[in-house]
Amino acid sequence: MNSPGNAFTRRKFLYAAALGAVTGTQLAWGADDKPAASPGEKYFNEPPLRLPIARDADVIVCGAGPAGISAAITAARAGARTRLFEVHGCLGGVWTAGLLTYIFDFDKPGLTREIVKKLDERDARRNKNSSRFVYEPEVMKLLVEEMCVEAGVKIQLLTSVVAAYRQGQRLTTIITESKSGREAWTAPVFIDTTGDGDLGAQAGCAWEVGQAKDCPCQPMTMNALAVVEDAKALGKYTSFTATDEFTGPGGHLACVEAFKGELKRAGVETSYGHPTIFPVHDNLVMLMLNHEYGVMAYDSAKITEATLRSRAEIHRVAKALRSLGGVWKNLQIATSAEQIGVRDGRRIRGRYTVTKEDLIRGARQPDAVCRVTFGVDIHAETRESNSAETISHGGFKTEPYDIPLRALIAKDVDGLMMAGRCISGDFIAHASYRVTGNAVAMGEAAGVVAAIAAKSGRLPQDVEWSEGAGQLAKMGQRI
Ligand SMILES: Cc1cc2nc3c(=O)[nH]c(=O)nc-3n(C[C@H](O)[C@H](O)[C@H](O)COP(=O)(O)OP(=O)(O)OC[C@H]3O[C@@H](n4cnc5c(N)ncnc54)[C@H](O)[C@@H]3O)c2cc1C
Repeated sequence: MNSPGNAFTRRKFLYAAALGAVTGTQLAWGADDKPAASPGEKYFNEPPLRLPIARDADVIVCGAGPAGISAAITAARAGARTRLFEVHGCLGGVWTAGLLTYIFDFDKPGLTREIVKKLDERDARRNKNSSRFVYEPEVMKLLVEEMCVEAGVKIQLLTSVVAAYRQGQRLTTIITESKSGREAWTAPVFIDTTGDGDLGAQAGCAWEVGQAKDCPCQPMTMNALAVVEDAKALGKYTSFTATDEFTGPGGHLACVEAFKGELKRAGVETSYGHPTIFPVHDNLVMLMLNHEYGVMAYDSAKITEATLRSRAEIHRVAKALRSLGGVWKNLQIATSAEQIGVRDGRRIRGRYTVTKEDLIRGARQPDAVCRVTFGVDIHAETRESNSAETISHGGFKTEPYDIPLRALIAKDVDGLMMAGRCISGDFIAHASYRVTGNAVAMGEAAGVVAAIAAKSGRLPQDVEWSEGAGQLAKMGQRI
């Protein structure tokens, strides 16, 4: 929980008000009365602010990545007044701001099928496979906005969730920050879909990250879109074109090796040992080239350094490739991702923790909201291990396993659910379930349960999954 700052005296408030500095949500200090930090002091006590409270939602969803948009659409369709906050200027998270372009583990009933159908109607999928495919991020951006608007979700972009307050165990209020200043919002149920577990941490939940709190954790990667003369001409270097398989001639790894040969010819080496090109459209490809090691998802200074390094690397590699001429002639970076891709964020403790053992035994759960079929992908933790083994798969065989609803419900705080990367799981399990097909399915489950809980005055843990699944079926989301 956030602790209140020093006392905000009535005298100071009246003084600021007299200066005309107090508005609905904001307070600026008069020059003479500014609570300046004293020289030599280690901490600054920020004065508290009086914020108007908005009580217009049954369900508040924080973070609009694949999990968040799914949670919000589903909660709204289930009849809950739903608010969705997103710090970026678009919805979609890693799908859009992160320019992912590739989707794994998408062959599931529900919203996944609807998204596939809508992408196909817009001719925005390539190299189609029932479970994984390339999509066009800009089309996805518009599509998820339209779906949220159509469902009646109240969206607020460019708004960061910055604090959370409880009454006892119960999460009651969150604080957002944006150009509108700081605002307070209450709701019976909240869903943390920030990927990094920001809301769970702010609310005081226990959490884990990486293999331990000081990392080692999976590296970050910045994706980029590049314009080329002809994506088809890059055939043998572009993954998932010749075949859907990862290995064998024409498979992903062969394409990676061929591309690495070209990089060598151009005199550059990438920090990611499996540099990959994904074909997005006739003259558009996605480049996944770099790894940034040991950066915590909640360390802004380190994330900024990693972002600047990654962007510089992308442009350096593009320039080197261009110098080769031939199929690389006129390759240009159209855009690099606004958000560096974060693989490892906080995993909020839930009422069940998905573990490596679940993957080994192919766990079946009575409250299964999603069956994961994707294996374990652990990207190297350091530059040295990247040279030896860029991606490891845990050293065991993964059986398809269930994610139970309990892993989506916070253990330490009532009225809080999670979906996507930040659910309750261990390092190994997270390295498997984190891909976006599962994020969507988890978002749907959290959305429907949150809506039922909010509308019936119950807590999420008091809603049986059969009730949630029944509601999804009624809504046509379990086909
Ligand atoms: C480089 C990379 C490659 C990957 N490759 C694949 C792949 O090929 N296929 C695949 O399916 N998956 C892949 N993944 C995994 C997958 O993309 C993620 O695990 C997935 O994004 C999980 O979805 P999410 O909705 O939980 O999180 P995110 O997509 O991270 O969404 C979280 C959202 O919350 C917002 N947010 C965060 N904090 C706040 C806050 N405090 N206030 C308001 N908003 C906030 C963010 O801006 C973001 O929009 C990859 C991931 C990375 C990083």
